[in-house]
Amino acid sequence: MAGVGLAVCGRAAARGLSGDIGGWASGHTEASYFEWKKVADGCHVATGEGGNALAVVAKGETFVIDAKNGGFGAALRREAEALGQPVKTLINTHHHFDHTGGNPAFTKDLTVVAHANLPARIGSHVNRSIQAAQGAIAKLKQSQNAAAPKVISDVEAFLKSNPTEKDFMPNKLMPSSGTITLGGVSVELYHVGAGHTDNDLIVFIPEHNVVHGGDLLFHRMWPYVDPTNSGADTAGWITSCRKIIELCNEKTVVVPGHGEVGDVSIAQRQIDFFTKMREIAAREVEKGTTREEFLKLSPEEFKDFGLAEMIKPATLGGLWDEASKAKGK
Ligand SMILES: [Zn+2]
Repeated sequence: MAGVGLAVCGRAAARGLSGDIGGWASGHTEASYFEWKKVADGCHVATGEGGNALAVVAKGETFVIDAKNGGFGAALRREAEALGQPVKTLINTHHHFDHTGGNPAFTKDLTVVAHANLPARIGSHVNRSIQAAQGAIAKLKQSQNAAAPKVISDVEAFLKSNPTEKDFMPNKLMPSSGTITLGGVSVELYHVGAGHTDNDLIVFIPEHNVVHGGDLLFHRMWPYVDPTNSGADTAGWITSCRKIIELCNEKTVVVPGHGEVGDVSIAQRQIDFFTKMREIAAREVEKGTTREEFLKLSPEEFKDFGLAEMIKPATLGGLWDEASKAKGK
């Protein structure tokens, strides 16, 4: 069930961020497929086709955080390079296919950094990356985006290459938190235990005062909770969000995995969400509410959150499973 939920999640996430592809034209130049937004000096966020990707132009090189859906890595790399420097490094915030599907466009000749727990998980997302690419072709053929024909060739080439697990596999693993230097820019990577997954990396760039929180941050959307197949832990998720807050000041640009870029309040709201939902789940499980009944819950204060139809059942299921396991202890 969680697997199905996640497969749906990626499609929903793409739709939630970008709407109909045909309606994107205003945000694009002729040359670019993604909608790119400059969020700080040298820092640009690409939205659409999976999680938010951040490209940072450094001295002699650009590095990219997250790789989008299967088949879209080539376009992401091409457009990140068009910002002025060759891409030399990709960082994955976690293993989900809407953040690693584009990895094969980077892994063959570049450094791809991820947390040490990611390799054990990524194999389970290869088919989802391929399915996302297959599903994208029909949409791309309807697109008015001037770059769509080029992206169709990318996606077709991705599918024709029959990518396997090794094509998605990062080649530089972080066993714990640490700092790397890319093109003279210090990049702080933090892993503070399981949260959204058991391989989350928070990426902080002090020089530009920008943080990419990966899917520890869903901005005004239902966050995807999957304890069974991703190692999610909502108490740990709160701890990770506290770490993000600790890194930020009031001017920090905060890039969520999904939803609009904003400030540190995104992390606080994510904590508020989980604090509230964990309380509700514990109370309902204590009362004897069944999992099936719990999935119908629709908390008033989160009724405007996006992706509800697609993600809410998986999220509530994950919260119920956690609360039920805690009660059994
Ligand atoms: Zn995710």
